[in-house]
Amino acid sequence: MSLVVYNTITRKKEEFKSLQEGKVNMYVCGPTVYGLPHLGHAKSYITFDVIYRYLCYLGYKVKYVQNITDVGHLVGDGDSGEDKIEKQAKKEEIDPVEIAYKYETIYFDMMEKLNVLKPSISCRATGHIIEIIDMIKTLIDKGYAYVTDEGNVYYRVQKFKKYGSLSNRTLDEALSGERIEIATDKENPVDFALWKKAENNHLMKWPSPWGLGYPGWHIECSVMSRKYLGKTFDIHGGGMDNIFPHHECEIAQSEIANDAPFVKYFIHNNLVTVNGQKMGKSLGNFITLPDLFKEYNPIVIRFYILLNHYRKPTDFNNDQLKETKKIYTKLTETINNLRQELKQKEYTTLELVPEVEDLKNKFLDAMNDDFNTGLAISYIYEAQKLINKELTTTKTTSKLLALNNFITECAENILGLTFETTQNNKEQDLINIINEIRNEYRQNKDYQKADELRDKLTNLGITINDR
Ligand SMILES: [Zn+2]
Repeated sequence: MSLVVYNTITRKKEEFKSLQEGKVNMYVCGPTVYGLPHLGHAKSYITFDVIYRYLCYLGYKVKYVQNITDVGHLVGDGDSGEDKIEKQAKKEEIDPVEIAYKYETIYFDMMEKLNVLKPSISCRATGHIIEIIDMIKTLIDKGYAYVTDEGNVYYRVQKFKKYGSLSNRTLDEALSGERIEIATDKENPVDFALWKKAENNHLMKWPSPWGLGYPGWHIECSVMSRKYLGKTFDIHGGGMDNIFPHHECEIAQSEIANDAPFVKYFIHNNLVTVNGQKMGKSLGNFITLPDLFKEYNPIVIRFYILLNHYRKPTDFNNDQLKETKKIYTKLTETINNLRQELKQKEYTTLELVPEVEDLKNKFLDAMNDDFNTGLAISYIYEAQKLINKELTTTKTTSKLLALNNFITECAENILGLTFETTQNNKEQDLINIINEIRNEYRQNKDYQKADELRDKLTNLGITINDR
């Protein structure tokens, strides 16, 4: 079975065929860095991390670009309200650039804890102002954008006939439900900003042919994807909440500016709910990752998210999370027992064991079916049963080795799970051994050597308390 992916453009599963043989160019909308990353970020970036890992596993050379939105994303998600980063900067009384850098750093820290691989290229909107101005000029020249007396530039949405096709909305539907600003210099309320004039008190602003200003939110993705991946590329990803208006706007900008189709496959992950309810700051059920990680191992969160298909919503509730934690602890124990056992075995070369090969094929079939991680994990459980059975019976080396190889390839490399306690235990075992040696010195009243050992451990950040 070859890889099949659900394409939002056609609303069906399609066989995956990359534009260039052996290569995949993928762009995923990154975070707006003005606050702590939350569960929604975890779901989205774990989803695309697994897609990235799986494409690499299949042998593709993947160029994965993710942007950092550090300007232009307004509070209203449209063309109204303050810039999210400037608003936070005023709140924390620091520079907007500091805000962006601070939250970008935290974002990557949290992603590392979730074992999310870094993209091949991480690019910031503020680093591409020249290219942004250049693309806006093209859109104006082609009659798809216009400059107003107030110094704003808007995209003329009605002129782009495909607008709404990704989200399956008509222009009227696109407008309903949107907050329509009262005073506006737009030709049509559906038009969106490409460039906004900066008021005097606005901190982030750049000179442009239309005066001092800053870019709208959507244009950065069109510009950075073209710069790093070309006019047409394979996969564009993001959360379902990005389909409208963000991705509609990206398509409108890119296809007109480039005279080329924008993307072959649009992939969107579903959202998260908390106890069945939409998560939101105003609803008081907003869960940030730093808070969540105080209670749960980030890898348990990763596992929890992967239990669900990415196109289904993930509901977070404490009971289910606690249950998942137990399941994961048992799985970790089994894998560590397996690895303990293998350490005592004479290593032989890896042999194919039909039972394990069958499991692996089923795992890969599940992944090939639009990255069905939930089903794929059920085969990890089957491997767990086989490992436990083998460890309590014949302990056949070839089978244990094959099972270990299955876990490494499928659970660790593809799903990005980790089973770390062995490493931690190993470290603890070493500390215990060193401590025993030190106690012997002390018993023999060789305090100088005992203190030397203690100091060396202290230098490594390990404190020994003699009481
Ligand atoms: Zn985007």
